Amino acid sequence: MNAPHPYAGAPAALATQHRKEEALAPALADAPGLRLTVPPGIDTDRLGTFTGEIERPAPPSQTALLKARLGIRASGIPRALASEGTFGPHPHAAFIPMGLEILAFVDDDLGIQITQQRVSDHTNFAHTTAARLDDDLDTFLKAARFPDHSLVVRPSTPDGDAPIHKGVRTREDLAATIASCAHRSADGLARLETDMRAGHNPTRMREIAVLARDLGHRLARRCPVCQAPGFGTVATEPGLPCATCRTPTDHTAAEIDGCARCPHRHTRPRSDGRTHADPRYCPCCNP
Ligand SMILES: [Zn+2]
Ligand SMILES: [Zn+2]
Repeated sequence: MNAPHPYAGAPAALATQHRKEEALAPALADAPGLRLTVPPGIDTDRLGTFTGEIERPAPPSQTALLKARLGIRASGIPRALASEGTFGPHPHAAFIPMGLEILAFVDDDLGIQITQQRVSDHTNFAHTTAARLDDDLDTFLKAARFPDHSLVVRPSTPDGDAPIHKGVRTREDLAATIASCAHRSADGLARLETDMRAGHNPTRMREIAVLARDLGHRLARRCPVCQAPGFGTVATEPGLPCATCRTPTDHTAAEIDGCARCPHRHTRPRSDGRTHADPRYCPCCNP
């Protein structure tokens, strides 16, 4: 009989100020059974904010790991989770906004450190400028999913101590903040941005919940050699053969599962079952 999973019913700290436990706790309670607690008094914003008052010190996966370590220190629990998101234009189609969500998990007892990430165009990330709240803003407000999703309003050309209004979610508040920020701005415009903090952005909250399921399934899987939790995909191998001439292409031919603790690796065919690449991507058929 298998030994019980080490995370069944085990506590883990979640370093967040933005209600991310609503997205993360149910998923990780299902698999692998972690019980999340949010230690009070953690200032994750000191590792950077979306609105730029504090620059992020490191790449997002490193920032997420740093946040998780804050959670371990603040809680005294040897394992913790943290989430980090970053948003911007699609690298090949600048008019499509993309989101990258990262979850970091650290277990100092078992010596495990895992980051799981998800890239998606399910985001309302956008910004615009306006002199006042009128019908011209309707298209932007609809795309931003206001007022279910909050906005950030600030002067378009800020002076040093210009105010930043976060969490704006009523039309009255929006009209007032646009008017005051436009008044303060040298060009007479207010800048409106989607508020990307999870607690103000239900779309982002859903994306974090999907990623939490992925991480949960990965943590539930144990290494066949050392039994550590967190066995899952760590790399891919190119070389998927062309459907016409069998020449290896840049496309993924195999996925590699790896252990979060020991060097064990296992190479297997692609999980989507594809065995051949479209000749359009073949260096021989379509050089
Ligand atoms: Zn070919
Ligand atoms: Zn292992």
